[in-house]
Amino acid sequence: MKKTTLANGETVEFECLSCAITSGEMEPDGGTIVETEFFHAHQDVAYPIQGLVILASKRHVKCLDELTDEELLDYQRLLVKIRKAQREVLGIEYVYYFYNEDTTHHFHTWMVPRYEWMYKFGRSIESVRPVLLHARNEMYTAENLEDVRAAISSLTKALNKE
Ligand SMILES: [Zn+2]
Repeated sequence: MKKTTLANGETVEFECLSCAITSGEMEPDGGTIVETEFFHAHQDVAYPIQGLVILASKRHVKCLDELTDEELLDYQRLLVKIRKAQREVLGIEYVYYFYNEDTTHHFHTWMVPRYEWMYKFGRSIESVRPVLLHARNEMYTAENLEDVRAAISSLTKALNKE
């Protein structure tokens, strides 16, 4: 079991963070952006970057090749739908995607928007960690959090209409 302290000070215990979030047992800070039968999208606001989305499977699997054809199709469709909303609603021109299979929780893809300020940390994959650390350590301000939450809310609205 792992323990984490929520923003409200409450401590929760779980076997797998992705299972806790995708099952609804633990509400992600910022809420659910969109969900389907097989996938769940949210933002980890500990990394306060506008439009960053984490897309996690609902089933506890680690690797891409463990997804069924049905899940894979749902994953692709949802990934593209979120990408399109990032572009249309937030004007995000480029996104970096990554997932690692040796995760301590389960299959989830990070969709990290690329902003101009990130280029000072370099291009491509080696810049991702410094960018995320910078966001976590330097951008966790009331003002930025407000912008991040506004972006979450715009994406949520765009992805749940109809
Ligand atoms: Zn899990």
